[in-house]
Amino acid sequence: MDMIHITMPDGAVREVPLGTTAAEIAQQISPRLAKEALVARIAPVHGSGGRSAKASDHDAPDAAPEARLDASSNGEGFLVDLRAPIDQDVKLSVLTPKDPEAIQVLRHSAAHLLAAAVLELFPNVKLGIGPPIDTGFFYDFVRDEAFTPEDLARIEKKMRELAAQDIPNERKMLPKPEALELYRRWNQGFKCELVEERAIEPMVSFYTTGKFIDFCRGPHIPSTGRIRAFKLMSVAGAYWKGQEGNPQMQRIYGACFYTQQELDEYLHRLEEAKRRDHRRLGPELDLFSVQEEAGPGLIFWHPKGGLVRKLIEDWLRDELLKRGYDLVVTPHIMRLDLWKTSGHAQFYRENMFGPVEVEKDDYQLKPMNCPGHILIYKSRLRSYRELPVRLAELGTVYRYERSGVLHGLLRVRGFTQDDAHIFCMPEQIESEVEACMDFAFAVMKTFGFSQYVVELSDWDPEHPENYPGSAADWAHATGALEKTLNKMSIPFKRMKGEGAFYGPKIDVKLIDAIGRPWQLTTVQFDFNLPGRFGLEYVGEDGARHQPLMVHRALLGSVERLFGILIEHYAGAFPVWLAPVQAEVLPLSEKFMDYAKKVTAALAEAGFRAHLDDRNEKLQARIRDAQLQKTPYMLVVGGKEAEAGTVSVRQQSKGDLGPRPLSDFLADLRKQVDSRTI
Ligand SMILES: [Zn+2]
Ligand SMILES: [Zn+2]
Repeated sequence: MDMIHITMPDGAVREVPLGTTAAEIAQQISPRLAKEALVARIAPVHGSGGRSAKASDHDAPDAAPEARLDASSNGEGFLVDLRAPIDQDVKLSVLTPKDPEAIQVLRHSAAHLLAAAVLELFPNVKLGIGPPIDTGFFYDFVRDEAFTPEDLARIEKKMRELAAQDIPNERKMLPKPEALELYRRWNQGFKCELVEERAIEPMVSFYTTGKFIDFCRGPHIPSTGRIRAFKLMSVAGAYWKGQEGNPQMQRIYGACFYTQQELDEYLHRLEEAKRRDHRRLGPELDLFSVQEEAGPGLIFWHPKGGLVRKLIEDWLRDELLKRGYDLVVTPHIMRLDLWKTSGHAQFYRENMFGPVEVEKDDYQLKPMNCPGHILIYKSRLRSYRELPVRLAELGTVYRYERSGVLHGLLRVRGFTQDDAHIFCMPEQIESEVEACMDFAFAVMKTFGFSQYVVELSDWDPEHPENYPGSAADWAHATGALEKTLNKMSIPFKRMKGEGAFYGPKIDVKLIDAIGRPWQLTTVQFDFNLPGRFGLEYVGEDGARHQPLMVHRALLGSVERLFGILIEHYAGAFPVWLAPVQAEVLPLSEKFMDYAKKVTAALAEAGFRAHLDDRNEKLQARIRDAQLQKTPYMLVVGGKEAEAGTVSVRQQSKGDLGPRPLSDFLADLRKQVDSRTI
């Protein structure tokens, strides 16, 4: 009997008969592994003289290109069904739910299960494609009637029935003419089109799940029984092949995880994200708006939002001055020629608003602050004694974003960056980068974030021709970034080739209250602009040198930080940031005088208090203050007036009982001054 050699991940080699399957090998290793296995990864061992590697038919295009799961391109082999006979020497890994790749296979199989269930209930639907996605799967269908929520419930129920039957997912190879004939008889025009276009002859790969048969490269999990934790989420419109003008399809989305607990956590995160959505909370809390009349992507800061912005900006400007930055202000519109010198007019054109003609000269609304700061640096000759020069601006920029990608405060057409440019000597870069990172951490701490991810992005050393600056420049700058991160014991991910074209950078993504990452801080070197603008300083040696330039934004933009804060706190800002810190609620009309006194005392002490003097029931007024997420509610009646107290209710904790007004004021002072989160 022909034997083949299977190398396991631990290096152990097994000799097994030709045609042995991964499932059989898993069984030999342990029944438990066999039970948990979902799919296998194999990589042919070169020079083994194996015959037609199973790999070849896995190169057949799938009905769903998004579902491409094989990794043959990265040299690590490809995924195969557990039941696929192995016909040459290979390295083999049996993948269980612990392997992130295997979940995508499970989700792909869930897409097939969805199609199988839909066909049982609606035999006349036409099938499109059905790949796995990040959190689950989808399948596209054409049906005359729209799928209703009731239909989804029925389909999901049918999926559960079919899953419980543990129907095998079986691979079949058919000659192309037979494959076409099969789909023609079945009247599945879209599938015929896919087979015509994508099948590599002579044999076409199919998978069956009971009566359902799909043109698909796979792989799949062995049977439907393992698909347990799933939920159909929604129906959306989609065009065949994603092209407008093609037939409209209905795309059914599902979520799918290994365990019910993971699914529940995902559904909970979705609910939380909805509850925290700043686009909903913005108008509800009267913080900001986007006005159709004024144009999309342009933010109106309402009084309460404006107040939060003032607090953010005040903190930031004070910190900038403390940390040795100079505050500058540059024009919003400058000659187009300046943007030609900087290169933006050529390389950043598609993100810029069109030029404006003034006295036969073209002017450009600024998409970035860098050239403005460069002109200030260049306004006189600089000596090495002045360096580093740190120019900071809350600089409002305008960028042309397509209307389809605009998103609340996070993706806009006009925004204010907390931008700064540092011009320094090579020997100063390490301490400058360290100071930037220290500042970035102060931002996170102040605004209440404790988790973050840091990425260090470098150039692609195989294509130095794509970058300005010499290899030595890049090595020096990247080395400085890396050294600083190590020195500060900041863990980071190295992103090769992900740097800006003009220099390496550090990005900081913070993690919010529900675990979502948000890009915030960026610190970037620039080997491009100092040369373009001919920047210089006079060195200690009396000769002219080119300074190094660093761009850095810590908040990203005030708009962006505000959007993230709204979502992080679900609108309930910490007391130092809250637009209204205390709502004064007289028990009834009778106690209005005392209520006014309390409100005035708060204002006197520099707090933001509001008196709710509406003629409404106390419960209704408490509910409103609660909905407005006001941190404190101070209820005052006869007892309080007599004793000089306030009955304190905290938005997050409920009733705290009566306290002397002076005590409450002192406590509030402490919280605000220390920016308690
Ligand atoms: Zn498929
Ligand atoms: Zn810049």
